Amino acid sequence: MAAHDAWALVCRLFAGGTPVLRATLSPRDVDTLSVLVNAVKPTTVDQSFVLCPHCQQHRAQVWSDGRGGRMCRCPDCGPVAVEANDGTALALNEDWFRQKMRLALDIESRDGIDDLGDGVWRLGDIRRSPVLLARDLTRVLQEPALLDRVRVAGGDIRVITPRPRTTRGSPFSVGIEWLALEERFTFYGGGIAYIRPGAGTELNVAADPWAPVHGPFSADFSWVILSDWPHGPIRCTEGQAAIFSALWSFKGVKVDGERVMLKAGQESDKPIDLFKVKAANKGKPEYEGPLHAYRALVESNRRQGVYWMPCASNLNHP
Ligand SMILES: [Zn+2]
Repeated sequence: MAAHDAWALVCRLFAGGTPVLRATLSPRDVDTLSVLVNAVKPTTVDQSFVLCPHCQQHRAQVWSDGRGGRMCRCPDCGPVAVEANDGTALALNEDWFRQKMRLALDIESRDGIDDLGDGVWRLGDIRRSPVLLARDLTRVLQEPALLDRVRVAGGDIRVITPRPRTTRGSPFSVGIEWLALEERFTFYGGGIAYIRPGAGTELNVAADPWAPVHGPFSADFSWVILSDWPHGPIRCTEGQAAIFSALWSFKGVKVDGERVMLKAGQESDKPIDLFKVKAANKGKPEYEGPLHAYRALVESNRRQGVYWMPCASNLNHP
């Protein structure tokens, strides 16, 4: 899936922290560039050294070949001609990345992002719990002072880093939650989406988090797949997912709005309240999508105050 490949490329660019030569990208990577318009930007790299175009293993200095062209001298391959476009490179738009990570985590704290230096940022707080983003897990593990700098009394710390090849389980002790960038986030609708814990438990590891499990809904009801929605899987907020999950549990039977809200554990009056799109968000697919899904899937009778979801009827699930 293109979104999956796109996210993999974003993670790699973030982990590397430097531009990559376009010539070194795989055809799958290149395919994702059309959806990564804001996430990845063209740049140039120092042209005095290039990755050897032949073996792509060694960085080698570039020389003039004396005939108006250029060549590099690779320790393995010897002299190799360097095409003029070999210097074209791509870099992650790091500002975009950090802003979208904040949005994905619903970080609204007024203080901005703190650059703690050498590839570590404090993105902000989730309910008084600081969130660190780092290029390299090892650095955070080797420098506990970094965590002390952001620690607040009574608040856990969340640390987000790319997953090192060798790390299994959580590398931290209690009070610090580690989120592997590749697994707990994904590229979605031009931005970044957070994948809540548990979302993957009913899926096999290779499946996308939005893979439909209950009718059009993902295992945790936080994604909806509708073929008439052109923007891909629809991502729901926690409250919206709770409404869909509650309605699903009633198997298409007409139920009082109050009972739906109780089952969903939501405090609003009516199910639709959680789907309303604020004026400022009108037309934005990430907000309009859940409302579209609600209208497509949920039936109601306003006079009787009852709601039901036909796709959840007994015929459709045992
Ligand atoms: Zn070489």
